[in-house]
This record gives sequence, structure tokens and C-alpha cells, in this order.
Amino acid sequence: MKLAEWLVEAVEAGCVARNHTQVVTVDIRDGVATGVLLRDQLSGQEEHVESRWIINATGPWADGICEKSAIRTQQPMVGGVRGSHIVLPRFAGAPDAALYTEAVDGRPVFVVPWNGQMLVGTTEVPDGSDPARVQPSKDEIDYLLRSLRELFPQIAVSEDDVQYSFAGVRPLPYSPNASPSALSRRHYLHDHAPDGAAHMISVIGGKLTTAGWVARECAVKVGISASGPARPSVALEGDVGGLLEQWITEVEEAGGISRGAARSLAEWYGRRSLAIARSARDREELRTPLCPHTQHIVAEALHAFAHEHATTLADVLLRRVPVALGACWSTECSRAAADGVAAATGWSQRRAGSEFENFEAERGAFLQKPPRTTLMR
Ligand SMILES: Cc1cc2nc3c(=O)[nH]c(=O)nc-3n(C[C@H](O)[C@H](O)[C@H](O)COP(=O)(O)OP(=O)(O)OC[C@H]3O[C@@H](n4cnc5c(N)ncnc54)[C@H](O)[C@@H]3O)c2cc1C
Repeated sequence: MKLAEWLVEAVEAGCVARNHTQVVTVDIRDGVATGVLLRDQLSGQEEHVESRWIINATGPWADGICEKSAIRTQQPMVGGVRGSHIVLPRFAGAPDAALYTEAVDGRPVFVVPWNGQMLVGTTEVPDGSDPARVQPSKDEIDYLLRSLRELFPQIAVSEDDVQYSFAGVRPLPYSPNASPSALSRRHYLHDHAPDGAAHMISVIGGKLTTAGWVARECAVKVGISASGPARPSVALEGDVGGLLEQWITEVEEAGGISRGAARSLAEWYGRRSLAIARSARDREELRTPLCPHTQHIVAEALHAFAHEHATTLADVLLRRVPVALGACWSTECSRAAADGVAAATGWSQRRAGSEFENFEAERGAFLQKPPRTTLMR
């Protein structure tokens, strides 16, 4: 399930979602958390929202919110551990399926076919810096390349082959004397009543794979009854491949789009793909690819704005239809995507220009090509 799908389902279930909105501080009255001060990061507007419970689910930022709100925990809740990844073009002999194996030092690493490229990760480096600005170090990139070369001795890859690299901070439970590999991957809920902020909890640790479970635990903690997953998993039987092809044909016919575009819609959006295809049926500008090298079409950007709370071009291209992570992507692709979306939405030239500029800045800050090593003579 793609992450934006969770957002869509939450809103369908009655949640209010605010993209690009920051919790500046938590309001505390007489030892009880009573609400939050929100700031819209695009308009700068601020607003107080009252609430009976506050769930601080800001991952590696969880301690920062407490500090800004003068909520004093006995010790930090999070011990941040950076994980870095490199992305390379597919090489001869690259695996067709995800490989989960050992790095040069015996740690687990993976090599995954991903967006037409190979994703190699990851590392474990304690990191208490601003999680929004972390970058892979040269040592981490060397380590991942050495591990890849050991796994595939026939390939000659170097830093120059890395298309881009990126990093994130795992919000693991604070444990100052443990090695990063030994830190627990389990989550816990920190109740802030003893810290002078009753009715506030922080979610610490956890994984994408356990997010549903964590959400149900939070619900119970704040007094909402939460049973098991709403939708039971379905065991598909019979000719699953045939069923998918049949669905792709329906999507293709509904939108009057190419088979490639229909396949990419079906694979990315599942049951929602038919509605997206239908929206493009009578509008050629929506059937246009987001860039000349992708099957993803402009209709997906409009769907992201209308249904997935995307607000900016960067939301769409990096976090909803992540075409900008693909093998082809360049400034020309960004320009084509901005022009295509502008034509479909009616953005002014000025808006299209600023969306393009902001997206390019965000893409450059997140996906960095490692600097070339200068050889000393
Ligand atoms: C390198 C790496 C590898 C990982 N590998 C796996 C894996 O293999 N399998 C797996 O299941 N999980 C994996 N994870 C874990 C997963 O991606 C999440 O980091 C983890 O589940 C924690 O999720 P979270 O929602 O608590 O925090 P995050 O995913 O970090 O989300 C926190 C959110 O809070 C927002 N936020 C921060 N401050 C504020 C504020 N003041 N106001 C409003 N919003 C704010 C941030 O913008 C962010 O969107 C990995 C993480 C990393 C970094």
C-alpha cells in the first residue's frame, strides 16, 4: 500500500489532514496538554487548535516538539540512527528480485530493483542532527559500494556510477550505551503525564510495517475502541496474473490510454486506477506523460491535488507519484512535468515557474549526487 493511501483512508474515516502544517508548540494548562499551535508553512498563518488528546507522532522530531513546548522528559526519548542509501543504474547480472544479504562487515543490507534502477542500503550511524537535513557521508557510500562489489565481484562500480544518494533518521528508542545494530526496533508509547503534560503521548520507534498496530494502540490509549484491522487480508487464488491483465484492459479502455500507462496506473493505485483513467478520457492534456520517459500521466498529478492532499509540484513528483526518483529524471523532465501540470490545472506562467524552482531546490537537497573524489598527485 502506498503511503498516501493511508492519508486518503484516514480522511475518508473523518480525519482532517493539513499538509505543510507544522505543530509549533503544544499548549499546556495546569499540567494538561490542551491543544497545539499550528503554522501553515506556505502561508505563514498560525492557528490554535484545541484537543482532548495530543499524539506526538513526529518520529525523529519527537524530542524537539517537547523541548519547544517546555515539556521536560527525564532523558531523550529518541536515539536517532541515520540510514543511507545509494541508487545506481541496473548493471549486467543485477538481481530481478530484492536481495537481503550481508554487507562487508556482516550487517544486513539489501539490493533492490527499484524504479528502473538498483537501490542499495542501508547503514546505521548515530545521528542527533536536524533530521530534515541529514545526508549520507562519504564513508557510508564507500561502505555500500564495497559491499555491492563483494556481492557482485564481476561489476566495477564506483562513486561516479551513483545516480544519487539519500538518508533518513530512524527514530529508535534512546539507549546511549547500545550499538546502533543492537537498538530495539520495537516501538513504545511515552505518556507525558509525569512530565507535566497529561493527555499527551509520544510514539517512539516502530516501523512502516507496524504502523497500523501502533495506530490501534494509540487509539486505545486515548479511549477509542480499536479492534483488529478493518479489512481482512485476502488470499488470491487462481490466475492472479490473468486477473491483473484483465483489470489493466478495463483501465486502458476507460481512459483511452496506452497499455503502459494503464499498467502503471493499475499497479500504483489498485482499485482507484479506474477513476483516474476515466478522468483522463476526454482530456488529452491529462493523458500526457509527466515526462517523456515515464508511463505516469498528468491525470495522476490532478488526482494527487484533489484526493491526496498534495499542494505543491514537489508533493506530487517526490511523494505521490514519485517519478522524480526514476532513472531518467533531469531538469528537462522537471520542466516537462511543470508545463504538463500547468496546462492541466490552468496555473499561471508565474505559478508554474515558482513550482518548478521550488521543486528543483527540494529535489536537489534530498537526492544528492556524491561529490567526485579528487585524487591527490
Ligand atoms: C533509513 C531508514 C530505513 C528504514 N527501514 C525500514 C524498513 O525496512 N521497514 C520498515 O517497516 N520501516 C523502516 N523504516 C522506518 C520508517 O520509515 C519510519 O521511520 C518509522 O516507521 C517511524 O515512522 P514515524 O511516522 O514515527 O516517523 P516519520 O516517518 O519520521 O514521520 C514523522 C513525520 O512527522 C513530521 N513532523 C516532524 N515535526 C513536525 C511538526 N513539528 N509538526 C508537524 N509534523 C511534523 C515529519 O515531517 C514527518 O512527516 C526506516 C527508516 C529509516 C530512516
